[in-house]
Amino acid sequence: MTDSSSETSADSSRPTKHFIEQAIDADLAAGKANGVVTRFPPEPNGYLHIGHAKSICLNFGLANTYGGTCNLRFDDTNPSKEETEYVESIMDDVRWLGFQWDSLHYASDYFGQLYEWAEKLIQEGLAYVCDLNAEQTREYRGTLTEPGKNSPYRDRSATENLELFRKMKAGEFPDGSRTLRAKIDMASPNLNLRDPVMYRIMRAHHHRTGDDWCIYPMYDWAHGQSDSIEGITFSICTLEFENHRPLYNWYCQSLGIHHPRQIEFARLNMTYTVMSKRKLLQLVKENHVNGWDDPRMPTISGLRRRGYTPESIRNFAADIGVAKFNSTIDVVRLENAVREHLNRVASRRMVVFDPIKLTITNWPEGKVEMVDAINNPEDEAAGTRSVPFSGTLYIGADDFREEAPRKFFRLKKGGAVRLRSGYIIDCHDVVKDDDGNVIEVLCTYDPETKSGQDSSGRKVKGTIHWVSADHAIPIEVRNYDRLFAVENPDQTAEGQTFLDHLNPDSLSVTEAFAEPEIKTAEAGDRFQFERLGYYVVDPDSTDKQRVFNRIVPLRDSWGNMVAKGKTN
Ligand code: ATP
Ligand code: MG
Repeated sequence: MTDSSSETSADSSRPTKHFIEQAIDADLAAGKANGVVTRFPPEPNGYLHIGHAKSICLNFGLANTYGGTCNLRFDDTNPSKEETEYVESIMDDVRWLGFQWDSLHYASDYFGQLYEWAEKLIQEGLAYVCDLNAEQTREYRGTLTEPGKNSPYRDRSATENLELFRKMKAGEFPDGSRTLRAKIDMASPNLNLRDPVMYRIMRAHHHRTGDDWCIYPMYDWAHGQSDSIEGITFSICTLEFENHRPLYNWYCQSLGIHHPRQIEFARLNMTYTVMSKRKLLQLVKENHVNGWDDPRMPTISGLRRRGYTPESIRNFAADIGVAKFNSTIDVVRLENAVREHLNRVASRRMVVFDPIKLTITNWPEGKVEMVDAINNPEDEAAGTRSVPFSGTLYIGADDFREEAPRKFFRLKKGGAVRLRSGYIIDCHDVVKDDDGNVIEVLCTYDPETKSGQDSSGRKVKGTIHWVSADHAIPIEVRNYDRLFAVENPDQTAEGQTFLDHLNPDSLSVTEAFAEPEIKTAEAGDRFQFERLGYYVVDPDSTDKQRVFNRIVPLRDSWGNMVAKGKTN
């Protein structure tokens, strides 16, 4: 189901606060919390994606709103999948989005404290060493409809448990042979409370603690206590953790430590997008894309390379709001966010794709005139630039028809059009090749009609863009489109995977001719190519050749195609 309506409105003048703000207000008023301390807790097992951006905007945003603080904490308890490369990319991405953490932490910094707390629970009879293997543990756990069975090792004495646990830590047992479990309730309707595993034996090299440990804490055992150590007051997480909350609470209460409040919100799902790190990793590893920062990826680094601005992503997050129920957001809302922002801030440039030569037959031989072009009609302060105009131009082949219907307001034989920032021209003839294709358009210009100084009183319906042939700079353009061809790539028929839904036309590379000003553009600079869309200079650019990525076309063309049944 696609929800394209706003869950909450974007600006700070919105009449009602969202449910998390209401919960915070209530706790502050009741004295249950004495401030707002949040955290963003990624596991460094991949690059961040647009879903994480929602969580980042929420956690850092709440700290800003309430004058509190927000930490960045790496939840690095699963060494087999974690890497320093991911840690660094995550820090880059958070900063790029415009946020700065108050302090930086790693769950692995708490391994020592967590171990001590585990011994404490053992001594209090609240945890035990269990010799069941993974499969047996699963069997004993029961199901949603059947209670579990107690482990035969559940009633070991505290002394025996302590000794065994110390031996686990000392590396005296093979991987997977024993676990430490919390002693809660094997009949609980909540499966997470059926004596959850706290520690597993796993000889894996950790990106920070190296080979110091051969037992690693499970996520639930590490997460709440890490929050507690940092004095987090509101631990905000996605809905799938709702039924972990009783366990989160049980650990904090049993240890008698500072007890943050966990609040769950709906994770972001978006049409035409996969959002799981596992699937994104697969796209990278199997070379369906060119790395994590491929401009088609929904990763923050991909969106950055695609040309998205941090503002547009923050505006998107504000626009979609925060809800308690899962829904799928139309990707058009993300695309509109960047259109809306770039329309306000991006300089305009004239760039011609698929060029056709246009000769002005009454233009003085060899004359070049500099004309003033407005950089951004939405922003007067952006000023103007000079663009060379001459008797030989390129226009887009699309903008010319030898014969055209009445409603065709671009250039046609016998018709007139304004050249943006230049003159009105009249087309009187064409030149064709042997096959009858038009290869040159012959026009005259009307000297009275120069843009900004037009005293002719002439009116024409259309304005088209152009570049001067002798001054045009060839550029490479990577026209990116959606990576998936269907709304919900996760939904697959039997025998299919999400990869079967990849859009075969998600990238087409073309050459184009740009006005000479483009030479000064540097990697990361964003422009509106007039009448076409928004483009960014890719870091692959060299001094010899600028490479541009299409961020978004000016208008959404997918809506029309779907309406016409052109996509599946
Ligand atoms: P994935 O399921 O994509 O692998 P994850 O939840 O395992 O993601 P974490 O690194 O554990 O990724 O997530 C860090 C934080 O970002 C968590 O608080 C998590 O709830 C939040 N988060 C992850 N995905 C989304 C999403 N799609 N929408 C909102 N928040 C998200
Ligand atoms: Mg996770």
